[in-house]
Amino acid sequence: FSINMDQFVLKHELGRGNYGTVKKVLHKPTNVAMAMKEIRLELDSTRLNGILMELDILHRAISPYIVDFYGAFFVESCVYYCMEYMDGGSLASLCCFPNGNVSLPPSLSSSPGSAWTSSPAPLADEHLRFIASSMTKGLAFLKDQLGVMHRDVKPTNVLVNRKGEIKLCDFGVSGQLEKSIARTNVGCQSYMAPERIRGSSPSSSNVDDAFTSYTVSADVWSLGLSIVEIARGKYPYPPETYENVFAQLSAIVDGEAPGLPDDETPEEAAYGMLGADPSENGDGKRVGRKWSPEARDWVRQCLIKNADERATYPQLLAHPWMKKDADREVDMASWAARAVEWRDRGRRGFGIYE
Ligand code: ATP
Ligand code: MG
Repeated sequence: FSINMDQFVLKHELGRGNYGTVKKVLHKPTNVAMAMKEIRLELDSTRLNGILMELDILHRAISPYIVDFYGAFFVESCVYYCMEYMDGGSLASLCCFPNGNVSLPPSLSSSPGSAWTSSPAPLADEHLRFIASSMTKGLAFLKDQLGVMHRDVKPTNVLVNRKGEIKLCDFGVSGQLEKSIARTNVGCQSYMAPERIRGSSPSSSNVDDAFTSYTVSADVWSLGLSIVEIARGKYPYPPETYENVFAQLSAIVDGEAPGLPDDETPEEAAYGMLGADPSENGDGKRVGRKWSPEARDWVRQCLIKNADERATYPQLLAHPWMKKDADREVDMASWAARAVEWRDRGRRGFGIYE
């Protein structure tokens, strides 16, 4: 069906990214709550139809691991993109502090042991496995069913709902849209694979790639990095690099790839907050949790710097981590409910969004 602005009641803002704003809206004709993303374009009106045509592929992106697309339309120099409303928000907002969408006052973000560190919703190995498995299935779906890669895998683009479902959004299906976005800001955290930063061609099999010279394995890197960030609760490269794009990109290209730690330091465990599961040792000191050896190996297979050696989706899905306790249901819904409650309580406490 075709949609336009008159059909919507606008509600509150859900978040804001580098290129636009996402609002909760009600679609009156269907009475469905949706999320509407406004993307400001550097207008070239000859491109509009091309963009709409390219976005059309999204109507075929029907998978339990991909946020549903309802349609898009233009008003003046903006494209409005309507999608499934995910009532838990992004994994970044639930797991990644202080670099998620919520910015903490500096005093809090640097004080391990504050109220923020004692999360009622620690992420256990099995929750992380469910997230990793859902993301991988979503990416494999995009590749196998739609023949596209995602290009922007990161924790803010992984959404959660209270049913405990984990779905990907914001994948780059439209080269024309990509070219038209009015970029005002460059992100301070890069999820790009080393070969994308170097801009070199990782293998010879990418000549058919529509807009650049890297391949789907670049998404595997971003997947691994996102899982590490979700687990640790913070972006895996050192904080010094957030302010300095060059230092950060150099660290990604030249430095050692990050991974899940064998054992987090107490500071990391505290700083990681939701991501960590700090327990007390005999002396009442907080100690880090251990991620399973399978989890650490899975992540290592994603974060191989040489793109040709990195794992593929079928390999990741067949990995022993994914097969572990395969018969046991992971209760993601309870985790999501607790994490959302804790996050929203924090936001109210700091006057964020209220
Ligand atoms: P960037 O602009 O760098 O891609 P981003 O992904 O955070 O960053 P947006 O895609 O504009 O920026 O999204 C902003 C925020 O809106 C997200 O972080 C998420 O919290 C929220 N959001 C986006 N889509 C939805 C949705 N479908 N349902 C609920 N919340 C959403
Ligand atoms: Mg996004």
